[in-house]
Amino acid sequence: MDVVRSLEAFGRLRKSWPDGGPEVCLVPTMGALHAGHLSLVEAARKRSDRVVVSIFVNPTQFAPGEDFERYPRPLEQDLKALERLGVGTVLAPEAREMFPAGHRTRVLVEELDRKLCGLSRPTHFQGVATVVLKLFHLVQPRAAFFGQKDAQQTILIRRLVRDLDLDIEVVVCPTVREQDGLAVSSRNRYLSLEERKAAPVLFRALERAGREVALGERSGPALLAGVHRCLAAESRVQVDYAAIVDPVDLEPVDRLQGKSLLALAAFVGTTRLIDNTWLTP
Ligand code: AMP
Repeated sequence: MDVVRSLEAFGRLRKSWPDGGPEVCLVPTMGALHAGHLSLVEAARKRSDRVVVSIFVNPTQFAPGEDFERYPRPLEQDLKALERLGVGTVLAPEAREMFPAGHRTRVLVEELDRKLCGLSRPTHFQGVATVVLKLFHLVQPRAAFFGQKDAQQTILIRRLVRDLDLDIEVVVCPTVREQDGLAVSSRNRYLSLEERKAAPVLFRALERAGREVALGERSGPALLAGVHRCLAAESRVQVDYAAIVDPVDLEPVDRLQGKSLLALAAFVGTTRLIDNTWLTP
């Protein structure tokens, strides 16, 4: 497995890969790899022998006061896990190489970046889109793999790929969960024992909405009221938002007709967790 830390070295390696060779598949991550990340890597490995996993804690997607400094960075452990899955290349650049002093360009996916998580994290998706576009240029993948867990991110990246005519397939893999339903996340490690016990209420709220849809409920506000009631049962959980939206433009859905996204974000203690599910009438 090649572990490449400099962009120039990666560029040389990339040029050595022939056009007719295995498809280049990219899995962008911030490291601290868990079962969710590894499911993306496995999906990429099933498809190709030329998988690039990037590990980069992207400073531009964290706002001041968020957890950039304390975000976990267990690189050696990550590399071992990727080696076991037969990954060929890990790109783990330094922040000063990706964003050298004087870097001024930002990629803006208008409107989609201001909804849902963008309300409380107004610069987050600019940071995501900028780093993902940089990775796309560097790696030139045929396909890139993302997790449904970050639904808004996948919607935004699909938009970016279409708007900029990139010839890249965006593959979205299902959310990997703990046994009690909590979506696996690098941030779960911030939870205290009590908070960890409370956190699966997010999943239960999503499931409850799914059941109500199966029973015939079609009203967005009624479904959201149920979600809020369910979340209110846990005093350690403070809702940031819960929304039912159209999966292309993220506009609120008043009455379920087609497939809609139920997305929510909540603070469990001081840790902000997100989760989502599809609602299909
Ligand atoms: P991150 O390192 O948090 O930027 O995540 C890297 C990729 O892993 C993103 O595409 C995430 O959506 C995906 N991911 C994170 N958690 C999960 C999960 N529980 N299940 C599936 N994919 C996930």
